Amino acid sequence: MILLDRVTKTYNTRGSALERVSLHVEPKEFVIIVGQSGAGKSTLFKLLTREEKPTSGKIIVGGMDYDKLRDKDIPLLRRKIGVVFQDFKLLSDRTVSENVAFALEIAGLPTAEIKHTVPKVLDVVNLKSKENNYPRELSGGERQRVAIARAIVRQPKILIADEPTGNLDPKHAFDVIKVLEKINQFGTTVLLTTHNQEIVNYLKRRVVTIKDGKIISDRAVGKYKL
Ligand code: ADP
Repeated sequence: MILLDRVTKTYNTRGSALERVSLHVEPKEFVIIVGQSGAGKSTLFKLLTREEKPTSGKIIVGGMDYDKLRDKDIPLLRRKIGVVFQDFKLLSDRTVSENVAFALEIAGLPTAEIKHTVPKVLDVVNLKSKENNYPRELSGGERQRVAIARAIVRQPKILIADEPTGNLDPKHAFDVIKVLEKINQFGTTVLLTTHNQEIVNYLKRRVVTIKDGKIISDRAVGKYKL
């Protein structure tokens, strides 16, 4: 599903953000990616979403070989990969429902389908009761779950969650993590970055550690000390 083979990314001459990184993620896996700030995590994600191109190495996602991608293939690729960030990036002048619907509107889906789909997705993230609220009326954890709803509304194969709990208190952080687990159980591959060891211990999932642009450990399951 996700295959990186000796991928190097050099932004400038000072060194590589990623250096010969090889990683294989199976469909439906839940992988936690840890590493200090500057380790190369965001670069890895930007390579997957094709915001950046590797300096060398091979990337294949869902059968799409990135060396062979044409510009017209990029929308299809981005559709396969949902992304949520630490700062939720919601539209403040739109309600919860409208924020999620917006992702479908820009994709050109018919109104009837949007009306049918949005409540279902809000149900997945446990926000049905807040559908008519505005982001400012929500807690941080609820806002992040709106962002997750928006990221999964087009049913991506992969969900990238880049430090999604970074701004949240523990209770709200775990609400978000439980939603990610649910989405994973429905069959979406999840790539999560976190600095929170409690979350890592709770999830008991594969942990890939990046340091200075290299994978320094890749552990299947179990307790792991950051
Ligand atoms: P992380 O997400 O783990 O904090 P990043 O992937 O953002 O790490 O950064 C890895 C390294 O690449 C850092 O040294 C960072 O300064 C550098 N870097 C990231 N993005 C750029 C860029 N657009 N231009 C130049 N250097 C960058």
